[in-house]
Amino acid sequence: MKQQPAAGILKLKKGRDKSLRRKHPWIFSGAVESIQGISANGEIVKVFSFEKEFLGMASVSLQSQIRARMWAFEDVNIDRRFIYQAIENALQLRKQKGLFECTNAIRIVNSEADFMPGLIADLYDDVIVCQLLSAGVEFFKSEIISCLDELIKPKAIVERSDTDSRKKEGLNKCAGLLAGTLPDDKISIFEGETKFLVDVVQGHKTGFYLDQRDNRKIVASFCMDKEVLNCFSYTGGFGISALANGAKTLINIDTSADALKIAEDNARLNQLDPGKMENITGDVFKVLRTFRDANRLFDVIILDPPKFAESASQIEKAARGYKDINLLAMKLLKPGGLLFTFSCSGHMVPELFRKVVSDAAIDAERRVEMVRTLQQASDHPVLLNFPESFYLKGLVCRVW
Ligand code: SAH
Repeated sequence: MKQQPAAGILKLKKGRDKSLRRKHPWIFSGAVESIQGISANGEIVKVFSFEKEFLGMASVSLQSQIRARMWAFEDVNIDRRFIYQAIENALQLRKQKGLFECTNAIRIVNSEADFMPGLIADLYDDVIVCQLLSAGVEFFKSEIISCLDELIKPKAIVERSDTDSRKKEGLNKCAGLLAGTLPDDKISIFEGETKFLVDVVQGHKTGFYLDQRDNRKIVASFCMDKEVLNCFSYTGGFGISALANGAKTLINIDTSADALKIAEDNARLNQLDPGKMENITGDVFKVLRTFRDANRLFDVIILDPPKFAESASQIEKAARGYKDINLLAMKLLKPGGLLFTFSCSGHMVPELFRKVVSDAAIDAERRVEMVRTLQQASDHPVLLNFPESFYLKGLVCRVW
């Protein structure tokens, strides 16, 4: 086991300690005066201000612009015991929320927001799927896996650290079985009465978009007898919930034929009438234009696109993309129809997203009421002094 009594030292430049004092957990390379006493990527350092005041414990990431990520703002050993406690605290939150009663698919650890910077751990029935996205959590990989195993006792632990972001941390993509045995088939999960199949090996992210769980329920509650268009559907999430709650018809659109194949399986799993569902493998930007040209109209449209802005520099281009699809969707809604529109780009702040959607309404020549705002599910908590952890925003709009 790794011992960390003699941590290295990270010293900040003069005047660069403000965000840490506000408990923001990232230290950018430009703020670092010096790093001493470490021999491997991800090792622990004690962080000091330029004036030598102790600020907390961090893991260093030697190649990343985010040069260090804070584990704690106190003088504590970062070791297996610390990690065990952090995972137990995270688990406690999910148990208090009563989540385990209404679903068997839960995000157990949500990175910085659960004080484990870079670690995602999702539970799908009795399988844990994790992503280790920073040098710090990679350094403690064996401790993390053994703590998850001890606390949750899953049948299997699968790694899905096959993300591009690992490169920025100087880490290779990595995926595979870490413990136990994998089930032969896709994993069946439930959210309330609705069931979904999850492919934890080939699926997106860890296999399913758990962050939309609450919103699937809300969307479904508006869909009785409605004609629903589910754009960027992945394996059907919103649409299957809508059909299971009485929608008249459903069209799913996604570029991934594999995802749409699972949407078909999901319809069968929920004993839904296959005649009510159509799947279109295609580009939403193009399909919406085809629908517009054919004067197609819907009662409910869901727009849940992938992250359009990966960095702050892409925000303008992303805003154009969001405006385009929102404008098209508004044109395809019957008067009084509902648009559920989302952005999962952290860089697209809520005010800007609202402005983009209002601009779309003006260009679409539609009058739009905002019925409510939506956000990521409660097992994806937001760290208050870390706005980056609040990434999923949604608007429910009634379009006239
Ligand atoms: N709404 C889904 C999650 C959507 S994730 C759910 O609740 O489960 C975004 C999806 O958009 C992915 O499935 C991806 O394959 C798809 N996608 C990305 N670009 C697309 C495009 N231009 N047209 C259609 N689908 C696209």
